[in-house]
Amino acid sequence: MLKIGHEVVRPGRHWGDSNVTIPVPEELETTPGIPLTAREVDWYAREYPLETMNITERASRDWANTLRDLHAEMREIRKEHDKLNSNLIMAARSTAEMDPTAEPNGEDISQLVKDKARQLGYLEVGITSFDPRYDYKSKRGFTIMPHAICLAYEQDFEPTQTIPSVDAEIVHSSTYRTQAAAGLELGNFIRSMGYKAHVIHSSDATGPVIPMFVAAGLGQLGACGYLLSPHTGNRMRLMMVTTDANVTYDAPVDYGIHAFCQVCQVCVNRCPGRALMRDKIWWRGIEKNKLYFKRCRPVMARYLGCGVCMKVCPIQKYGLKNTMEHYAATGQVLGKGTHDLEGYNLEGKGYFGPGELPVFDRGFFDMPHGNSDEWAFDSMKEAARDNEGEIPDDMLDDLKLQIQRAIALQSGDVLQMMAEDQDYI
Ligand code: SF4
Ligand code: SF4
Repeated sequence: MLKIGHEVVRPGRHWGDSNVTIPVPEELETTPGIPLTAREVDWYAREYPLETMNITERASRDWANTLRDLHAEMREIRKEHDKLNSNLIMAARSTAEMDPTAEPNGEDISQLVKDKARQLGYLEVGITSFDPRYDYKSKRGFTIMPHAICLAYEQDFEPTQTIPSVDAEIVHSSTYRTQAAAGLELGNFIRSMGYKAHVIHSSDATGPVIPMFVAAGLGQLGACGYLLSPHTGNRMRLMMVTTDANVTYDAPVDYGIHAFCQVCQVCVNRCPGRALMRDKIWWRGIEKNKLYFKRCRPVMARYLGCGVCMKVCPIQKYGLKNTMEHYAATGQVLGKGTHDLEGYNLEGKGYFGPGELPVFDRGFFDMPHGNSDEWAFDSMKEAARDNEGEIPDDMLDDLKLQIQRAIALQSGDVLQMMAEDQDYI
């Protein structure tokens, strides 16, 4: 039995459930939240602000959507999701301008907001300062409220275990919609107590939100790149409501996850694209396992959004309490090496059990890169080289068309993208 360093007490999984106590073995203790160097985070935010991949990697996004559309069933599901989801995005955007519907009484409403969120079905809720250092450049000023209510909604267990599959894609989309509707209700509640509440739909996020969720004590960043929370690991969807209400901030927690991932490595070993890094690096002032985007997107595009890294995570499947208790008792990772945890099917390629990974043809990982105009220039240069340096008029005409389209799509705004491309997800 390993020596327990500390215990973390968290609210139960559902509203009204008893608290759970999670033992963190001493050898897994690191730091509450995530190791970071504030000065570096500041510097990168100032000198190299983040930007959405809908802009910076637009060329491969369009390529991926074209591939996905070859799957007739998924294409219809995406169209239906877009139709329903765009209404929720518009409704959420409109909350930025809404005034409170009552006078505030001046009391701290943190617990009332948390209780309401849990009653609305959220799995996790925590409060921290809204951190604009993680804003995308194109989203600066999107929300001006000082506090962030961080909200996580559970994605159903059963369909998630069939990842990658059509069923899992359906539940992934519907969870986004369900949580957005709950967020609108939470916004109404906050306004009824006299404060502003800007509901930010997850499809309309201001930037990466995980650092704020970590600061609010809701989990720690996993090697898979998702937030891992105590009850369902990465099997949840995240959104935020920002507010000017009188609230108290939560604190980051050391759940032992930062160190546990280095022992576990199941997602790293099972990733079909070999896209996850074994070791942590310092990136923009944060110590983390970095994803190789170029090895992930081709797999996601061809295999129903992939998500194997979600499916095979023991904390997703068994919860953090069971996983930590098992580790403390045995020194082993719960489920590691079993078909139950590690097995998955790739449509058209077959089943891959523990120790087995798919092999892809040469060229599988080739895809357009950069934003659309960069890619148009690069493609033309390549074609001109193949044409012994000659650039005929039709090549120039094609470039002109592509650049015009790229300029029109430069905003990366999710609603604009939906309007331009009815099949966007
Ligand atoms: S989504 Fe698939 S390819 Fe991408 S990191 Fe996860 S397991 Fe790997
Ligand atoms: S599978 Fe293991 S290494 Fe990967 S995120 Fe989950 S706990 Fe961390």
